[in-house]
Amino acid sequence: MKIKNSSFVISAVSKKQYPEDALPELAFAGRSNVGKSSLINMLLNRRGLAKTSSTPGKTQLVNFYDIDGLFRFVDLPGYGFAKVSKTQKASWGKIIETYLQSRENLLEVFQLVDIRHKPSGEDKQMYDWIRNSGFSGIVIATKADKLGKQQIAKQMKVIRNELQMTPEAVIIPVSASDRSGKYQVWDLINQIFEV
Ligand code: GDP
Repeated sequence: MKIKNSSFVISAVSKKQYPEDALPELAFAGRSNVGKSSLINMLLNRRGLAKTSSTPGKTQLVNFYDIDGLFRFVDLPGYGFAKVSKTQKASWGKIIETYLQSRENLLEVFQLVDIRHKPSGEDKQMYDWIRNSGFSGIVIATKADKLGKQQIAKQMKVIRNELQMTPEAVIIPVSASDRSGKYQVWDLINQIFEV
């Protein structure tokens, strides 16, 4: 797939603001700081399209990006802030749940985890939600440039185990720094559209 134009559509606070057309959507989920914005920018060859979500006020927004008028990337609110209240956590959960469970446009969700760390409780909860909502459970392991080849292989196993991924579930190591994994992710996106 050759992308010519990508653009920001809207940061939705509520469901009412989701785009109303029937374009298919691919969503990205992960804890804040995992590298979600960097991955989206890398995939689209854009430097500052997706903004870093590390400002706590921005955590509750669902960001939509149009890709050549053909489909959209959806950046789900990053979770895992240490300093948020229970109420905020619950509200974060509701926002993601609302999107995942009600959005007919949604074709697939990619779960991002930092390749260096064992997935957190929230990562596991997110992954379970994704699987329970009927998606295949594709994992993208970010910041692969931080590890050597052997460590990457080892961490892929750790992540697979912790998330209880099925043997056929896909996990792709990527790096927005050295741009590795970009074509594997695009191959996967192409496959999603071919079925
Ligand atoms: P988000 O909060 O998930 O959108 O994360 P960002 O994309 O804003 O990235 C969070 C931090 O991780 C930033 O300081 C990025 O520069 C850094 N980062 C993101 N991707 C990579 C990567 O592939 N490799 C390295 N070394 N750092 C990364």
